[in-house]
Amino acid sequence: MKIKKTKSLIFKLTVWYVVFLAIIIVIIGAVIFGSYRNSLLNDIDESLGEIADELDDTYWSHRGINLKEAIKRAENEFKHKDPHILIVKISRDKENFLERVIHTGDSYDDNFILDRKLYCRADRSDLNPLYVVWEEGVSGSSPQRVILFPIRDNYILQIGLSLKSTYSKTRRVLILIILSGILLLLLASAGGNFVIRKAIHPVVNVAQAANQITTDDLSHRIDAQKRRDEIGVLVETFNDMISRLERSVKEIKQFSGDVSHELRTPLTNIRGEIEVILRKDRDKHEYRNTLKSALEETYHMEKIIDDLLLLSRTESLKRESLRKEVQLDEILLSVYERYEPIARKKNINLDIKKIFSLAIKGQRVLLERMMSNLIDNAVRYTKSRGRIELSLYKEGEEGVFIISDTGIGIPKDSIPFIFDRFYVVEKSRSKEKGGVGLGLSIIKRVADIHGAVISIRSEINRGTEFEIRFPLSQRGNT
Ligand code: ADP
Repeated sequence: MKIKKTKSLIFKLTVWYVVFLAIIIVIIGAVIFGSYRNSLLNDIDESLGEIADELDDTYWSHRGINLKEAIKRAENEFKHKDPHILIVKISRDKENFLERVIHTGDSYDDNFILDRKLYCRADRSDLNPLYVVWEEGVSGSSPQRVILFPIRDNYILQIGLSLKSTYSKTRRVLILIILSGILLLLLASAGGNFVIRKAIHPVVNVAQAANQITTDDLSHRIDAQKRRDEIGVLVETFNDMISRLERSVKEIKQFSGDVSHELRTPLTNIRGEIEVILRKDRDKHEYRNTLKSALEETYHMEKIIDDLLLLSRTESLKRESLRKEVQLDEILLSVYERYEPIARKKNINLDIKKIFSLAIKGQRVLLERMMSNLIDNAVRYTKSRGRIELSLYKEGEEGVFIISDTGIGIPKDSIPFIFDRFYVVEKSRSKEKGGVGLGLSIIKRVADIHGAVISIRSEINRGTEFEIRFPLSQRGNT
């Protein structure tokens, strides 16, 4: 699947990253700019304060000096800062509200007059200076920082310094901050995009590798490149999942191959026998024998199909869905009665050693099938004059069913596989006894559904013992 560029995770993460970074840069830039501007204004305010102090000192400490003279001296002292100094008198007349008593300074302009309200406020401010930024300046002059100082009723001392150099410094710093912010943003976005790409890249690899995996070829695995991070875990989980899938697909393929094979053999036999008999005219007896043999083969096929149907029907059956209580002892007795004559005919002693009343939650038909498969196997794989013993009893919270025979036994290395579908220990010994290797798969499935555990003890030519432990339901057991 192709991902649209704007929908891609790399794009989205980069955009988020850039936006976040831009906000941080703007905040930091504003803080730096603001504090720089404030520190410059503080410097100017300090200079204004110094000029005012100097003026104050000169006026009060030199006898006979008048205010104009003191202002002149202060102005001379601070010539390099080029202040304008002015003393105004506020009158009640709103039209002509103030009178310039004294003024000085090269930068002085007659228009250096502020709003009346500011002078009135300074007049009321109880000898505290009032600092004002006079942005407009006057035509041809730069904005001014002005201090207004009440010297006596209705008389205000005004000292002003140009903000020209302050503003050009702050403008330069602002441009510098904006440019470096943009540069930083560009570099960080490129770097961020690179890092995000690098982090996402393994996911793209995983997707590409996953694309190559089909049910026909599940052998591919994704290379985790020894990663120990989240991507490594993802790859490992993915590989595990493919392994499980591979096993399942292999089992399904093996199973369908086995089914076709097992059904094909009796069909080939039937066809062969019919072809032979039809080659020429035969007597009634021969036709009868062929039909009998064909019938037996169909019984055999029917059994395979029945067993497979039972396995597939019980595939999704869960223990929790078993609600009905069944008596295991009753089931055992009915199966025993069915097999006892068959065993006797083979000269085998089929015996119930001990039997107790045992109830479990389960399905009668399935449990009957389990017990008859076990007894059937024991009868088939035990020679004449052998013994088969059955026991059913309670042990703790479990019901135990044991079937032991003195039969031919199962080789040790076959035991792990005997529950697999179509597994037979030796083709020859099973075939002559009529088995296809589904009986124990059914037994295992029924045990699983009922939460039972099977264990096997077997010795070649000595006999076999199957033990099945059922978890008991609480009521009905003695
Ligand atoms: P089958 O229908 O061929 O008997 P099962 O699934 O019932 O298939 O058994 C699988 C294999 O286990 C058989 O091929 C048989 O050799 C062996 N087996 C099962 N039960 C016994 C037993 N009681 N004694 C000896 N071998 C047994």
